[in-house]
Amino acid sequence: MSIALWVIATLLVLGGFLYYRSSLLITSIGLVGLFAIGSWFDIVGPVLWVLLAVVLLPLNITAFRRGVLTKGILGAYRKVMPEISETEKDAIDAGTTWWEGELFRGAPAWKKLHSIQKAELSAEEKAFLEGPCEELCKMMNDWEATHELADMPEHVWQYLKDHKFFAMIIKKEYGGLEFSAYAQSRVLQKVAGVSTILASTIGVPNSLGPGELLQHYGTKEQKDHYLPRLANGLEIPCFALTSPEAGSDAGSIPDTGVICKGEWEGKEIVGIRLNFDKRYITLAPVATVLGLAFKLSDPDKLLGDKEELGITAALIPHDTKGVETGRRHFPLNVPFQNGPVRGKDVFVPLDYIIGGPKMAGKGWRMLVECLSVGRAITLPSNSAGGVKSIALATGAYSYIRRQFRLPIGKMEGVQEALARLGGNAYLMDAVTSFSTKGIDLGEKPSVISAIAKYHMTEKLRECMDDAMDIHGGKGICLGPNNYLGRGYQGVPVAITVEGANILTRNLMIYGQGAIRCHPYVLEEMLASAETNAEGLKRFDKAIWGHIGFGMSNFVRSLVLGLGFWRFTSSPYSDSTAQYYKKMNRFSANLALLSDVAMGVLGGSLKRKQRISARLGDMLSYLFIASATLKRFEDEGRQKDDLPLLHWALQDTLYKLQESQLALLDNFGAVGTTMKVVMYPFGRIVKRPSDRLDSKVAKILLKPNASRERLGQGQFLAPEGQFGYLEQTLRDIIEAEPLFDRVRKAADDRRMPFMFLDQVAAKGKELGVLSDEEVELLRRAEQGRLRVINVDDFAHEDLIAGKHAREVALASVKKQDSAA
Ligand SMILES: Cc1cc2nc3c(=O)[nH]c(=O)nc-3n(C[C@H](O)[C@H](O)[C@H](O)COP(=O)(O)OP(=O)(O)OC[C@H]3O[C@@H](n4cnc5c(N)ncnc54)[C@H](O)[C@@H]3O)c2cc1C
Repeated sequence: MSIALWVIATLLVLGGFLYYRSSLLITSIGLVGLFAIGSWFDIVGPVLWVLLAVVLLPLNITAFRRGVLTKGILGAYRKVMPEISETEKDAIDAGTTWWEGELFRGAPAWKKLHSIQKAELSAEEKAFLEGPCEELCKMMNDWEATHELADMPEHVWQYLKDHKFFAMIIKKEYGGLEFSAYAQSRVLQKVAGVSTILASTIGVPNSLGPGELLQHYGTKEQKDHYLPRLANGLEIPCFALTSPEAGSDAGSIPDTGVICKGEWEGKEIVGIRLNFDKRYITLAPVATVLGLAFKLSDPDKLLGDKEELGITAALIPHDTKGVETGRRHFPLNVPFQNGPVRGKDVFVPLDYIIGGPKMAGKGWRMLVECLSVGRAITLPSNSAGGVKSIALATGAYSYIRRQFRLPIGKMEGVQEALARLGGNAYLMDAVTSFSTKGIDLGEKPSVISAIAKYHMTEKLRECMDDAMDIHGGKGICLGPNNYLGRGYQGVPVAITVEGANILTRNLMIYGQGAIRCHPYVLEEMLASAETNAEGLKRFDKAIWGHIGFGMSNFVRSLVLGLGFWRFTSSPYSDSTAQYYKKMNRFSANLALLSDVAMGVLGGSLKRKQRISARLGDMLSYLFIASATLKRFEDEGRQKDDLPLLHWALQDTLYKLQESQLALLDNFGAVGTTMKVVMYPFGRIVKRPSDRLDSKVAKILLKPNASRERLGQGQFLAPEGQFGYLEQTLRDIIEAEPLFDRVRKAADDRRMPFMFLDQVAAKGKELGVLSDEEVELLRRAEQGRLRVINVDDFAHEDLIAGKHAREVALASVKKQDSAA
């Protein structure tokens, strides 16, 4: 054997050990074996054996490794790693990791993904969606609520209370519906397609708020009192955290609670004196009970030794002396109930603390624990529902609306935007189903919830823009016939609430993901904080596991980057296999880049937001792509849906690749080196082709099974705007051959596809249409006109507020004087 051959064989075998993540012992034995072969062929002499021993012995003799090597690393680690604050500790401890953890580890086990149960509704949940939820959608008039009443009408409020829409998360024993997270998501998706006011109003009590907090932390008395009242709508809750001085940095709220003696119902008791000024609080103007977050202190040490107890959550009835509610903010013409809450010297008993006095100071932990669940459901579902409805509506509109004698949806430029709507609608449904299934399986997915919140609301923004562009003036002119404008106006609300998006992308997704999903980092942090022998033992295990993991990811990234990703595992060998294989490669890249970024930047990675954001993008897109593949699998691998799947996967993986490249381009020499390792032959994913865009667009243009699956669960009854569009689309498609027949009979090749009632009359006159066909053409024309027309108003009808009253009074006076 030649030296070169031995060296190559040794490198390959060592690479193999690292690629497949063999243990240190196995790798060491393998190396000794290779050296023995080298000795046999007179290639390895004593010097190499000594070198091998110098490397392997310290690593494999546990006492030496731990006592010398690990101790040294631990000392250096403690110097560079910043201490974790209590707030960060709470955020890290709250929540669990699930499939996203698998993606972070560099080698996803696809079987695991596909063995997760499919999200499904129970018979009761299905009945609710088809019964009360359908009925609610029929009775809601969004224009009336947004323009005329600046609120939902009384009968809608009552219907929501009577049918327990605010009690989807409350347990049955307290009179609630106790729906699964998936069912909540489907309810929100359906109502979001009808009205943003409805979706926000239903979303909040079922998300983070008194109901959720009470069920987790409430005392028996609090649960017995409030939960049945919340379930049947006797109490309307809100949750007040945000202050003018503390928005994103909610932990810095200046609102105070001071433990002191005071008078309560005629007796002197130990209670809390509250002073607070909150804003942006959803449902506050109509709430009967406020969940309030404030900083509690005990200067006279009436509760114990501690003076500063920290953030605390309490339930305060709205009519408590000193509390001021009722005024409203006006969120972007989507006037759901939202406003400030203020309190001056409000004295309440200690029992008002959620969970009682023992939970004083535990408010922040309570919030982060509960927030992750609500954040994964409400806004992602509202966004998915909105996009599913507008994707269908925009498809239908693009077929009905004609310019240059063609349905606009047949024009390539329009198809580009339609494809984004179709592909994203498919993907967003997939992400919400998958994330909510995770919750139903018992996860508290803090990383997934940040991913879902950020990406679904950003996709809503992108899709709303596309829908508006395609609708042109029809989307711009507000009125009862405009089914887009209010949703479009409301997009920034979704972007801002529950963790404003810039912060969510730059700080939260990867900030939590890196620590929670990485197989070793959290354990290293926790172990390094322990100063005893057990801490050293744990740190030893974690740090050497981490070093091996890093080396393995380097080898994997190198090998897969050379093109071997094509030979990696995929559960299918059809046209979807390429995505699994590319994701194997990206997952290894993410794991490696994470370690490189943490190794190079240490604690300062927290401040390098753009690097953190792009690593978060990589994790997010891997998660989104997995959820989409899961949907395809769960729905029986429908061939007709392949264009939607291909579009969603190509768009997602392309964005992943571009984020990764942007990260490498902005990471100095380290980035340049990594680029050589990861992209020796350039990009591997292309964005969806024009041909694919066109295929997706065509799915949206006419009724078909894929289109039906895209809109599944949305409100499409003919009484609603979207249902009417669907009906009109069917009528227009049926009218087309009749129109052609009349055109031929009249020998008028230039006859335009308009005035279909006149076409009907002509057809009847020429004897080429039956009475039924005449009727169909007339109905199609009526629908067509309603779809393409917009509302107009008298000047007076558009004047709002106090001026409207003045104009109305002037007009009454004018009538009086005329009489
Ligand atoms: C309609 C509406 C309803 C709401 N409902 C409620 C409610 O029911 N209860 C409640 O308590 N609150 C509620 N909020 C408050 C909401 O959660 C806050 O608006 C949100 O947390 C952002 O705070 P802010 O608006 O003060 O923005 P700011 O905190 O001032 O942020 C401004 C911008 O800076 C970015 N930013 C801030 N810090 C960082 C950082 N470290 N890194 C990167 N970027 C950063 C943000 O992403 C944002 O883009 C509501 C808000 C609105 C508008």
